[in-house]
Amino acid sequence: MKNIILLAPPAAGKGTQSSMIIEKYGLTHISTGDLLREKIKENSSLANEIKEYMKKGNLVPNKIILELISDRMEMSDCANGCILDGFPRNYDQAVSLDELLLKHNMKINAVINLDVKEDILRKRIVGRLLCPNCNAIYNDQIENMNSKEKGVCDICHSVLIKRDDDNIDTFNNRYNTYIKETRPLIDYYERKNILYTVNSENSANNVFKSIENIIDNI
Ligand code: AMP
Repeated sequence: MKNIILLAPPAAGKGTQSSMIIEKYGLTHISTGDLLREKIKENSSLANEIKEYMKKGNLVPNKIILELISDRMEMSDCANGCILDGFPRNYDQAVSLDELLLKHNMKINAVINLDVKEDILRKRIVGRLLCPNCNAIYNDQIENMNSKEKGVCDICHSVLIKRDDDNIDTFNNRYNTYIKETRPLIDYYERKNILYTVNSENSANNVFKSIENIIDNI
């Protein structure tokens, strides 16, 4: 059983690489972003509160995230190993994760840090399109990342959508939050000797080759 964290700035390819990892290694995907997007479909005051944080590109409070994560980690499919995509995102979440892992008798085998320069992230944000049904990701500004038919998912043929938070203003805030809160976790996991950095500016397939190399050797 292998448990992996994907650590990355916004639009570094977490979602794409998670899908490729799941397909090859059969790990369970736990994305706090996806859990939150599911949650905001409910008509509740909590859903509205979460929506506001996400729309502005701010982190959703730790209390809400930890509840979602600990419920998710109780589920039996986590016993096959899981990939944590977008969690932890700050120091307190990392410490809470350590406590949760201890409780479930689990450990993290690798933290994969996807490294991409800020100007490339900006370009990715502007063109990113998402399939609301199967979560496949496309980009109409980047060669090789276009869907075959404009605006339609290659896999399930749903109409592609743009995420509410994929605009430059929100990106700036998300990126600043990443620098201030999430990037320090690189040191946190380096000290634990489980950090692996991958250049994620290459094509998705090349990035995945580097990731395979890490997962096969841990
Ligand atoms: P993502 O899909 O990972 O890019 O996350 C989208 C948005 O969801 C982020 O910009 C945050 O507002 C929120 N979010 C996702 N994961 C977390 C987390 N671990 N802690 C706090 N907020 C989160």
